[in-house]
Amino acid sequence: MPSEPSLEVDDSREARRKAAAEALRELIRGNARFAASGLIDTKLSVEERAALVAGQSPRAVVIGCVDSRVPPEEVLGQGIGDLLTVRTAGQSLSGVALGSLEFGACQLGVPLVVVLGHTHCGAVLAAMGDNDLTGHLGELVGEVAGRLVDLVGQDPIRATGGNLQATVDALRALGTLAYDGHPAHVVGLLYHLDTGLVSVEDDDGLLAAD
Ligand SMILES: [Zn+2]
Repeated sequence: MPSEPSLEVDDSREARRKAAAEALRELIRGNARFAASGLIDTKLSVEERAALVAGQSPRAVVIGCVDSRVPPEEVLGQGIGDLLTVRTAGQSLSGVALGSLEFGACQLGVPLVVVLGHTHCGAVLAAMGDNDLTGHLGELVGEVAGRLVDLVGQDPIRATGGNLQATVDALRALGTLAYDGHPAHVVGLLYHLDTGLVSVEDDDGLLAAD
């Protein structure tokens, strides 16, 4: 007969879920501030920078696109020390990117991993079309295409959301983004270039609870 989980483990899991939910809510609030007011000077003082010398405790790990129009700290209204950020074109998942995400989730114990997709993503559009890219660029686009084509065929309208969900699913299936046996919560946000707002495409149940 399997043993019951200890109360201590339950508490820890619940505490991490609550921390992930609060972090996600803060990112949504930060994005609303950004969309309403543009770039915000947040947590950029000399004193605040100095306080981070001793260590870091980011509230979320983010994997986003390299697109210059979607810097995660700015569009989510966060300051230095708030986000551990990995950026690859189209949120492509290569080994070094995954290792960087694991550093945040496994070594620092960050309970929330955000996949930040965006509309008008050139990498996604390149993956949907015929191209003759070779070398590193070909490898990159091929990795995105590999996740996409099974999901949306050649439908570019569904491609951005499809790529976002495929990335979320791939990170959950990976099973390595965990701390002390507790998996991080992986969520998907889609940034809309036209409004400056993110939509929550997959919250892993975090926003419904409480
Ligand atoms: Zn992009």
